[in-house]
Amino acid sequence: MSEIPYKIYLEEKEMPTHWYNMRADMEKKPAPILNPGTLKPVTLEELSGIFCEELAKQELDDTSRYFEIPEEIRNFYRMYRPSPLVRAYCLEKKLDTPAHIYYKFEGNNTSGSHKLNSAIAQAYYAKKQGLKGVTTETGAGQWGTALSMACSYFDLDCQVYMVKVSYEQKPFRREVMRTYGATVTPSPSMNTEVGRKINAEFPGTTGSLGCAISEAVEAAVTQEGYRYVLGSVLSQVLLHQSVIGLETIAALKKYGIKADMIIGCAGGGSNLGGLIAPFIGEMLRGENKYEIVAVEPASCPSLTRGVYAYDFCDTGKVCPLAKMYTLGSSFIPSANHAGGLRYHGMSSVVSELYDQKLISARSVEQTSVFDAATTFARVEGILPAPESSHAIRVAIDEALKCKETGEEKNIVFGLTGTGYFDMVAYQKYNDGEMSDYIPTDEDLKKSIAEMPKV
Ligand SMILES: *Cc1c(COP(=O)(O)O)cnc(C)c1O
Repeated sequence: MSEIPYKIYLEEKEMPTHWYNMRADMEKKPAPILNPGTLKPVTLEELSGIFCEELAKQELDDTSRYFEIPEEIRNFYRMYRPSPLVRAYCLEKKLDTPAHIYYKFEGNNTSGSHKLNSAIAQAYYAKKQGLKGVTTETGAGQWGTALSMACSYFDLDCQVYMVKVSYEQKPFRREVMRTYGATVTPSPSMNTEVGRKINAEFPGTTGSLGCAISEAVEAAVTQEGYRYVLGSVLSQVLLHQSVIGLETIAALKKYGIKADMIIGCAGGGSNLGGLIAPFIGEMLRGENKYEIVAVEPASCPSLTRGVYAYDFCDTGKVCPLAKMYTLGSSFIPSANHAGGLRYHGMSSVVSELYDQKLISARSVEQTSVFDAATTFARVEGILPAPESSHAIRVAIDEALKCKETGEEKNIVFGLTGTGYFDMVAYQKYNDGEMSDYIPTDEDLKKSIAEMPKV
């Protein structure tokens, strides 16, 4: 076996001290977010009514290359970072591939995903501003869990609107959040005006991420001392998640490894954006080339089948408009879709990189995603989150291609989290009851036609 260890760890002193903002190196920047009322670029003042001020600044800043990670956040990171970059020797052997496969594992904390990297930053800035608490939405529950942990660390109130279907299907996720002191409300609820409206319009609806976002925003702006925080999509979240990519590139450099291909799953684009950030930076500065692949579910294919246009970030149309690859904010993936990554749009930074062809995208069907998850779990030990398994699917496909060509490609993928709370989905898969639903062109046309004309 080669001299590369199973797990490549950075030492504490090698951990990143700054987040990297790839927008600073982009010649053509992502389009500005717009005020849904005036259709003019959102100002810092307007944004500060919804978000913490420091976070609003980060959101709008597309010129500062680096932001220093505050000492308190770095101390919190030390509790679970650096995360390991693992050489998947066992998977390589199982696939009998000449490819070298590496994965950056972000599931080594109680929230079980990368989301804690941004949650702790957002809670920190809320505390620094002297707020009482924050509101948010959560779909599968990872973000709500991460935020609950971060808020309890800084002694902030945390109100989570959880998509109703997950609230019912994942009672244990809910209990983790409550254990960390959060209040969890199934969405759409009767607590907010937008929730009541959605309930009246769609009786019996099991909710969507877009609805939950609208409720959480309303809850933030109607309570004194509260702001809204979001776990993906936003540029500030990609900024915080750059810690993943910065550690990855440092660990690879430590062993003289040059990545050829980097693969990440894409829901709202935050883990992917964070993982690829410093690699994209090198590409933008003309220093290096990488093949970068975003992987999304075939049932919610925003990059591969969406349109690149301004759209609402939420169903209730209260958030700023973002130019992004989107299926339309009224798109709700089929109920049989189990594997996460349900968001209708995509980070405007990732969208712009995709539009500039700096990254490519593929969509995969959920049964093949669970095939990959199972193969991976059986040889590498970790039980992967369904979301992460989208990246595993493509990493395996690529490694199998190398078997035919004999290429010793270095494949790096993001393993964003663990799947212990997704056992209903695994159960369906194990019982042979999982099916694939791919939206028809007609389905997509309908939600795309409802998009704002900007
Ligand atoms: C939330 C989540 C994702 C998808 O979100 P992105 O913003 O696209 O990264 C992927 N994997 C896990 C484990 C998650 O919790």
